[in-house]
Amino acid sequence: MKIICIGRNYLDHAKELGNKIPTSPLFFLKPDTAIQPKGHPFFIPDFSNNIHFEVELVVKISKNGKNIDEKFAHKYYDEIGIGIDFTARDIQEDCKKNGLPWEKAKGFDGSAQISNEFINKKSLKLEDINFSLILNNSLMQKGNSKNMIFSFDHIISYISKYYTLRAGDLIYTGTPSGVGKVEIGDSLSCFINGREMLKVNIK
Ligand code: MG
Repeated sequence: MKIICIGRNYLDHAKELGNKIPTSPLFFLKPDTAIQPKGHPFFIPDFSNNIHFEVELVVKISKNGKNIDEKFAHKYYDEIGIGIDFTARDIQEDCKKNGLPWEKAKGFDGSAQISNEFINKKSLKLEDINFSLILNNSLMQKGNSKNMIFSFDHIISYISKYYTLRAGDLIYTGTPSGVGKVEIGDSLSCFINGREMLKVNIK
């Protein structure tokens, strides 16, 4: 099982970090050890002083495929969940400055938080999914799938040119603006269309 993450898929977030708008999907991988056992708190790793939350809609691949045409991409997923792409922003900035890969900043243990439950796509309007993240009692991130630069289908088609997709693979589809730092004692809640799907306590 692999975890593929899309970077800079929402204009407002690309702008808040001062990044260029991509002309094709930018993606990177996390190892499967980035997913923690269910119900586990997230421990801030000692190698970073700036761990950021990024709430993202997550597509679960349901069928193996390679070189998937965009018009058939919908056949390769049935469910959407929500996750947090935890990022060591200080390390990432350093990697970016030095032209190095991001894995150290993106793939550490616990960096891929994922909802237990996924929602069948038939009960969602894929081009109009609201999602959000509340930190303690404050709404920090609010997004809608209609604002994605690259759609779920486009992302799947694009990635499958490079990597064979397998049933069970997860694709984190990018974060809207409002990313920020977590501190010990924080509690994060993530919602799809107003329904709480994921809660993470920071230790
Ligand atoms: Mg992200």
